[in-house]
Amino acid sequence: MVQSLRRYRGRFAPSPTGPLHFGSVAAALGSCLEARRQGGEWLLRMEDVDEPRCQPGAALDILRTLEALGFTWDGPVLYQSRRKARYQEALETLKNAGLAYPCACSRKDLAGAATALDGGPLYPGTCRHGLAPGAVSRAWRFAVDDRSIAFTDAVQGHYEQHLARDVGDFVLLRADGYFAYQLAVVVDDADQGITHIVRGADLLDSTPRQIALQQALGFPPADYMHLPVAVNAAGEKLSKQTLAPAADTGQPVATLLAAWKFLGQICPPELGDASLEDFWRWALREWQSENIPRRRTRMPAAA
Ligand code: GLU
Repeated sequence: MVQSLRRYRGRFAPSPTGPLHFGSVAAALGSCLEARRQGGEWLLRMEDVDEPRCQPGAALDILRTLEALGFTWDGPVLYQSRRKARYQEALETLKNAGLAYPCACSRKDLAGAATALDGGPLYPGTCRHGLAPGAVSRAWRFAVDDRSIAFTDAVQGHYEQHLARDVGDFVLLRADGYFAYQLAVVVDDADQGITHIVRGADLLDSTPRQIALQQALGFPPADYMHLPVAVNAAGEKLSKQTLAPAADTGQPVATLLAAWKFLGQICPPELGDASLEDFWRWALREWQSENIPRRRTRMPAAA
């Protein structure tokens, strides 16, 4: 625990690229119950920083789905699309500290690069020490240190990455003018005073990058808990791309119970005809984070 002196504040940060599916409901449920059980607050943030990938109406649809499932959050919803000036300010801080540099490389230029942990190209550092004469800056990158970053995840345990070897200098401001998720999420978590980050384990390998940015920007550290991610029979993460169906709000308790089971929680027989209020009252009492399976992916049980 690194945050013992600050009051617990958690969050759920969906990207409005489509309707909320089962996997996101499980992440929302886990982060909400963990925050409430710790007597903390639970905030909501719409991660619409990648505007070309966002779908009109999806943010509102997500809010309605969460409401229909009985979630309640603290304070106003934060929208990343309205925070560009703040991200720019953070980028300026990094530039002034000599930790961000302009990059002229196109995707084609990086075609021969080694593969990073996330499957993308491991940036070979072409522009790290200045642009070639006549080259035009397309993006801004973070200059990573040649060191390991380790943390202890509350579910997944010890996790360590050597940024220079595993990830390389990553993008802060993209060639299309949008800020990268890695920068936005770090600035937002700090500005919202988030002490505990509970989210899907697909983001475990983003965490060292985020810790490096937090440190570079002088933000306080957070505690992390990465939940198993829901995958389909082919092992693919449920998402709009894999055609995951929208969460069923017609039977809210059944949907929540499926997410509850997915998170390894014990299901009582008496909840068969429970109301939404019954479910939440009961879930807050019975939630045990120790029961969350220590694995990065999991298939939901058949309905
Ligand atoms: N917006 C991200 C997603 O929907 C989550 C980011 C986070 O929780 O840090 O996958």
